[in-house]
Amino acid sequence: MEKARNRTFGKMMKQLQRPYSLCLYDGLGCENDAIRAHSVQNAGTLESLCKDGHVVMPQLVLTRHEPPRFEFQLVGRNNATTFTGLCADHDADLFRPLDTNGIDLGSDEHLFLLSYRAVLKEAHTTRKSAIDTQLTYQRGIEEGLHPKDVPCAPGEQAMEQMISAWLIELCRARYEHASINCTHKDIKHRVIELDAPPCLAVNSMFSTEVISEETGQPKFCHTECFSARGMHGCRFSYYASERNCAIQAFDHIFNATGHYQNYLISKLILKKCENFVLAPDLFKNFGSKQVELVTNYFERNICGQVYDNDAPEIYLFEPVA
Ligand SMILES: [Zn+2]
Repeated sequence: MEKARNRTFGKMMKQLQRPYSLCLYDGLGCENDAIRAHSVQNAGTLESLCKDGHVVMPQLVLTRHEPPRFEFQLVGRNNATTFTGLCADHDADLFRPLDTNGIDLGSDEHLFLLSYRAVLKEAHTTRKSAIDTQLTYQRGIEEGLHPKDVPCAPGEQAMEQMISAWLIELCRARYEHASINCTHKDIKHRVIELDAPPCLAVNSMFSTEVISEETGQPKFCHTECFSARGMHGCRFSYYASERNCAIQAFDHIFNATGHYQNYLISKLILKKCENFVLAPDLFKNFGSKQVELVTNYFERNICGQVYDNDAPEIYLFEPVA
């Protein structure tokens, strides 16, 4: 049994490292090779944070005999926040308006494209996760670690990942429709200026935990922390038809100011996002208690758990003494 577990763990590690390259644009009909596309704006945002070509982000550490854990590590700028979900042609075509003249926060098209990036990244991540989880489950059955044709926790986990990927795919198709038909106003945005220098970046899509009364499905929102022309801002995006849901989920953040607003945003990012990056010059000044509490808060919420802690050290915008 121990040998079977070791073999399954080895195959799982290989599967997790295997790239999943697929251009998700235009009805999934594109057969070009995917590139490493940035989910966070490279010019402007990432370049304002990185040091010697690196940023800091949480990385999963897996070993055979210890539970999975996360560690904040230096990551190359060209590997951070990238995903292999667009080919070079479609990445360039789709986001040309952002890359040509810089980001215009007054443009519905620009704000739409920024949130579209988060949708594509999440669609790619959830598809890969569903495939990895299902294959690992099947290998566990082959090795006799899980029962066949009988419900068990790994099988249910694989099913949950597939449902999650399907829900995000519905959003991706909705965004693609809005992109092709130029109905950018279907997505609404709230941009707030943060009371902090550029030090943190993220562009993520996540469930608000508000459930639709019509479909029984979770409502999704997007958030982005960015730097543009010296400003450090945070954007929240949502379907125009779901404005009330966004207010229900985020009004406490919209109404807060200064340090407390940054604190709420820190906790939201740690709870909901996995592709955020920090400036190395900021992170190196975090004390060991702050690193421990931030890492713990992230780890204990990453799989949809509901964990909270009011420690002031759970803060991403500056060192907390
Ligand atoms: Zn393509």
